[in-house]
This record gives sequence, structure tokens and C-alpha cells, in this order.
Amino acid sequence: MSTTAYDPAARRDTPLAARIKQLIRDTGPISVADYVSMCLTDPEHGYYTTRSAIGAEADFITAPEITQIFGELIGIWCAVTWQQLGSPSRFNIVELGPGRGTMISDALRAMAKLPGLIEAAHLHLVDISSQLSATQEQRLQNGRTTFSQWPRTDDLLADSTTYPGPWIVIANEYLDALGVRQFVANDGRWHQREVCLNADGELDYAVGGPTQQPFLVDAAEQANDAIFECCDAFQQSVAPFLGSLAEMDRLAALFIDYGHEQSAPGETLQAVRDHAYEHPLASPGEADLTAQVDFANFATIMQGAGLAADGPTTQAEFLGRLGIVERTSRLMSANPDKAASIEAGTLRLMAPNGMGTRFKAIGVRSAGLAPLPCLG
Ligand code: SAH
Repeated sequence: MSTTAYDPAARRDTPLAARIKQLIRDTGPISVADYVSMCLTDPEHGYYTTRSAIGAEADFITAPEITQIFGELIGIWCAVTWQQLGSPSRFNIVELGPGRGTMISDALRAMAKLPGLIEAAHLHLVDISSQLSATQEQRLQNGRTTFSQWPRTDDLLADSTTYPGPWIVIANEYLDALGVRQFVANDGRWHQREVCLNADGELDYAVGGPTQQPFLVDAAEQANDAIFECCDAFQQSVAPFLGSLAEMDRLAALFIDYGHEQSAPGETLQAVRDHAYEHPLASPGEADLTAQVDFANFATIMQGAGLAADGPTTQAEFLGRLGIVERTSRLMSANPDKAASIEAGTLRLMAPNGMGTRFKAIGVRSAGLAPLPCLG
């Protein structure tokens, strides 16, 4: 939950803050969704568009950056899924938001153990960050896998008929980065939450007009000022993208992210800069803004697009089914000098009070396919 207080002294006059203030002076308050979208993907000042933010030295660390075992197990999931699809001689692997390319490098190493798989695969890396795309290219350029890079899912779709075969899609911590719209309960109705200028001319929250939009959570049952969040991109970008792939050929997709299984009120939009939480309005464009995934809403939207969903299941259960315990002990025996850090990495991913349960895995597939491995 985002409980970080909005300390006026902590506000930073970033270049994007100046632009957003001018926009609000010119045209009035903007929705939280538009604010978040500018902060993350503004071509000039957006967080993802301008920096390489991932890794131990950056603002936050992700599962593949904690241990190589995470990516290796994702590679095993891809291999089993490929076999379940009948081991096609040509197929596509799409990674959405590959960051530094760590997960896919580890996954490909594991996949290479299955004869025929790497030769059959064409890899697509979709990332809005040109810096991270350059890192991904460096990492993969000397490998055996043919790959293409795309800034957005729409760019891949525009060219997708060039690539025959089924589609396996993987994504870790992609959905939480797609921005969020917020609503405030007021007298039994949801109102859009907006970003305005307060009396000091600083960015602040305001309650906008009521919305007719129906949600799985009823505003009439909420106290005034309760917040409800909804990610527009599930409906506007992820569902059309996966739906289009599924129209071309069979689709099997895996999303891992942190979030809640049931739709619930609560403010989860959070800002992280230099490993510390801050208020989402404090440093526009210079902090990572993420929000928990509402997996119930995500699954409902995918089903609305004619796809089937498997799970969600907790990260601990999912990685357990993929053999994380066996893989960890084998790696520890082979590298006795690194055994302690290998074990620590696995424990972190599996922590019952931490990543093991806060993160969940959900599958999305063509409706005619059997349930995807390890998710049910
Ligand atoms: N999967 C990586 C990185 C997660 S961070 C890991 O686990 O380490 C989110 C990633 O998604 C970043 O690489 C970011 O550049 C990318 N991203 C964010 N929004 C995007 C969008 N709208 N389209 C494509 N990529 C996006």
C-alpha cells in the first residue's frame, strides 16, 4: 500500500514536473492515468524511456536479477509448453519488458538442453526503453537464437505475419509497469481521481467527476475516499495484442507479477527511487511508478477477448512445481564456494511472507488449448 506522506520538502522540480504543471495550468486537471503514463513513457522525460533502471545498482531489483535459477525455470516452462504444442519446427517466443535481458539469457541456456528447440525458435523482445533494448541486444548477439526487437507490442503486431508458428509469450514485472487509473469513492459512486495544482501551485490529488464505469468492486459498499485502481492497458493493449496473436496461431502466455487475486479497493500505486519509497507525485519521470496487478480483473479481460486464463498461482508454488528445490541443490553442489548466495537467492524468491506469495503467475492461452503447465 502506498502510505508515503506527501512531504512538500521532498518534492523535486524535475523537468517533467514543470511540463505537467504547465499542462494543468493550460488545460485543467489531468487523470492519474495520464499522469502515470507521462511519468513512465514520455519520450523525452519518461522513467522507462530515459534510463536503465533495473539491477542491484538501480532503483529496484527483480527476480531474474536475484538468481539465474529464475530464468532457467522459465526456460524449462517454455520447453514443456513447446512440447505440449507438439514441438513445432517453427515458433515464436515473445518477451514483454525484458529489462536487461537476464531472464531470457538464463532461459535460453536451459532451453538449449532440449534438442531442436532453439533452432525452431524466433525470439521477439518488446521493450520501450532504447537503453535497455541496447543492453538486451549486446547480451544476445553472440548466441544461437535469431531475434527481433520492438519498442511496443503494436510494432510487433504490424509485422507479425512474417513470423510463422505458435506464440509463447513470457513477461516478468511487465504488467505492473503499464500504469493505472484511480477512482475515489464518494457518496456511493466512483469518481475519477485527478492530478491538479494546489494553492501553492504544486501537484496534488483532486476528486473529479463521477464515472458510470462498472467495476467488480461496488462503490456503494465503500467508505468515502476509498481508492479503486484499474489498469487501462489490460483492455487497450494486452488483450488486443494476445488476441491478435491467438488469431494467427496457437498462443501460450505466462505473466509473473506482484498483485492480488481478488479485485479489492486500496491504493497500491507506489514510487521508488534509489531503493526508497516516495510519494508518487514527488519526482515525476525520475521514480519508478508501479501498481499491484488485479489478477481477477486481468483474467476477466482476457476471457472477454476470447482467451482462457490458468491460475493465478503463487510464485512459490509455480517455481516449486518447476523444480526449484532440485535445481538449487544441484547448482549448490556444483558451486560449493557460492552455495550460500545461491541458497539465499532461492529463499528470497520463495519467501512465504515475501516474494513467494506476493508474486503470482497467471497463464493466458488460446481457448482450444489444454491448460498450461504448472499453473493449475
Ligand atoms: N522483466 C524485467 C524488467 C522488468 S521492469 C525483469 O524482470 O528484470 C519493466 C520493463 O518493461 C522494463 O524493461 C521497461 O522498459 C519495460 N516497459 C515498461 N512499459 C512498457 C511498455 N509500455 N511497452 C514495452 N515495454 C515496457
